[in-house]
Amino acid sequence: MPIRLAIRLRRTIESRDNPLQKPLQYLKGVGPKRAELLGRLGLFTPQGLLYFLPRDYQDRSQITPIKDVKFGSTATVKGTVLDVGLKPTRGRRTLLEVLVDDRTGTIAATWFNQPFLAEKFRKGQEVLLHGKIGSYKYLQIVNPEFEFIDEGRGDSSKADGRPYASGIVPIYPLTEGIGQGYLRGLAMRALEECVPYLEEIIPPSLQRLRRLMPLQEAVKEVHFPASMESMRRARKRLVYEELFLFQMAVALRRNRVRQEKGYAFSIGPNVDVHVRRLFPFRLTGAQERAIGDIRRDMESPRPMNRLLQGDVGSGKTAVALYAMLAAVANGFQSALMAPTEILAEQHYRTLERYLAHARVRVALFVGGSPGRKENLEALAKGEIDIAVGTHALVSRDVHFKKLGLVVVDEQHKFGVLQRVGLRLKGQRPDVLVMTATPIPRSLSLTLFGDLDVSIIDEMPPGRPPVKTLWVSRERLQEAHEFLRCRLREGRQVFVVYPIIEESERLDLRSAKEGARLFQKYFPEFRVEPLHGRLSSAEKERIMRDFRERRIHILVSTVVIEVGIDVPNATVMVIEHAERFGLAQLHQLRGRIGRGAEQSNCLLFAEPASLEAKKRLEVFTRTNDGFIIAEEDLKLRGPGELFGTRQHGLPDLKVADLVRDLPLLVQAREDAFRLVETDATLKKFPTLKGRLQGSSLGGLGRQGLASVG
Ligand code: ADP
Ligand code: MG
Repeated sequence: MPIRLAIRLRRTIESRDNPLQKPLQYLKGVGPKRAELLGRLGLFTPQGLLYFLPRDYQDRSQITPIKDVKFGSTATVKGTVLDVGLKPTRGRRTLLEVLVDDRTGTIAATWFNQPFLAEKFRKGQEVLLHGKIGSYKYLQIVNPEFEFIDEGRGDSSKADGRPYASGIVPIYPLTEGIGQGYLRGLAMRALEECVPYLEEIIPPSLQRLRRLMPLQEAVKEVHFPASMESMRRARKRLVYEELFLFQMAVALRRNRVRQEKGYAFSIGPNVDVHVRRLFPFRLTGAQERAIGDIRRDMESPRPMNRLLQGDVGSGKTAVALYAMLAAVANGFQSALMAPTEILAEQHYRTLERYLAHARVRVALFVGGSPGRKENLEALAKGEIDIAVGTHALVSRDVHFKKLGLVVVDEQHKFGVLQRVGLRLKGQRPDVLVMTATPIPRSLSLTLFGDLDVSIIDEMPPGRPPVKTLWVSRERLQEAHEFLRCRLREGRQVFVVYPIIEESERLDLRSAKEGARLFQKYFPEFRVEPLHGRLSSAEKERIMRDFRERRIHILVSTVVIEVGIDVPNATVMVIEHAERFGLAQLHQLRGRIGRGAEQSNCLLFAEPASLEAKKRLEVFTRTNDGFIIAEEDLKLRGPGELFGTRQHGLPDLKVADLVRDLPLLVQAREDAFRLVETDATLKKFPTLKGRLQGSSLGGLGRQGLASVG
């Protein structure tokens, strides 16, 4: 406790007196107005400014003599202002021309429609210009960036004795009212005044191991680098630091969870044999491995915290059932939580099928399901062994007698909160999270960094992989013939139109029109639209009719729920496939290929952009969800893939999860090793202080609840 108090005290002192933490207004050149504008860039303190990294750099170390500049190139020239002229041009526009001479030649710097710049230039000034070389009647440098040399700004234009304007200069992200030159000057000032206060938080042994540039040097070099090589080293150091802090928080949180005492189930051969007898198939090798992991977790007194990752149809539900039954065999209850009612009901039906000859009591808990009151009572009395439901399972009136295991079928739709909410229902139940969308390794390390991971990377046998074909408009006729053949064989077809989220009316129209079109082509079959405007009861009725083969072609504008299992549907037509993201396409395709028949996915698409084209190429090339996820991440970046907030993705300022994956792996190794040897961080007070004062959006704090 004294440690914690000391640290809190220290933090208070720090935040008041530490120049790094003062409001930006303490820096010269920042008034209230500017401070507000800087706030829009997320800049509030000198520390924030020091960690505000340039988005790019310009190498101005090469100054070209004016006589040598080449038309069409980008160049930096240095010279003296000879003349300043402001001319009107056609259409009430203005042209500012500043004539600059460097004794080898003369060039005109030109700006259109920025008359106010004229006041900035005076004859005789020395100026540095950087821009594209054009030529009209004479040599021009068009709309250049400019810096004055030694013009009452001498003090702010030097870093390490070199004039910043002529070295490699940073290009920052800007906002209206904050210019590049201003921000550079400000960064320079912050560097001069505040860098000495920056404290190393990376333990020296790790700095040596990873050959990291010292922090103070790295911060200087990342703004005004001596060379591009040194900029890259500086950046690497800052990226490592950010990832290391993040992984420290993860490691600490995991360490805390691991110290909790949970249930130690006993899963002997007897239980094992009994559970296996319920499966009408042999488990795949990948399922066996996952079950092995889960058994070890469940038998240990530490609470299980495991992520079960596997493509749609890989057989996760069977694995989850094994775990649930193992808990039940130990006299505990299990809960299975699905993201939607339809999926909860399907899980419920699946379990009932598996358990038809077992004496295990299963009940469904969704919004207003009948018999809810009786079920709740039975649950509280321990007369129900497995509760299946939606998030309704975490509502206040749900009580378990003895909850031992929680399975969350996550599909990316749950927040961490709900997971925690359900965990609180038991003492320390084991938790198994299932995700159907394969998550790239980089993201599973960060998103689920504190979970253990089992991967099912093998499909059950006897299911030929889906064949995917990108169909051009000219071959529409052929495609319809193909559909007709499959329909006559008794197979069913999904047709998917892009969802129009902004407008339910348009959404409705495209579903209805699509359905009408298909009905026209296939008058002998029953076609029905499924769209966002339908009530959930209607959606359900349609899904039931489809499952029971009363509907042959389902034309849908809602994402057919992940996990919907209709093995007889072997064809999927995706209209305007270019409008879907890769992950979505993959999920859609996962609806077919669930039986022994060959399944086919037909894409109708006219991609306008190169990116859309690439997406479709990747998609037709592979069925492997992990490859698709990696490609998706590369094409779109993590922020778009998962909303950052909802999924607990850290708000990383410097690191890029795709580019910096190798560093992430290192940082993770280092952090986990450190926590293993010294979870109290006694020897690393600066690191500890930083994690507690967390700049990691609360992540550090969460993790550190266990420290001190
Ligand atoms: P997931 O939950 O990963 O999407 P499921 O558990 O729903 O996958 O399994 C998909 C289908 O494969 C189900 O119909 C299930 O009965 C079947 N299945 C699961 N495991 C096997 C196996 N080892 N051998 C044959 N079929 C299996
Ligand atoms: Mg499933």
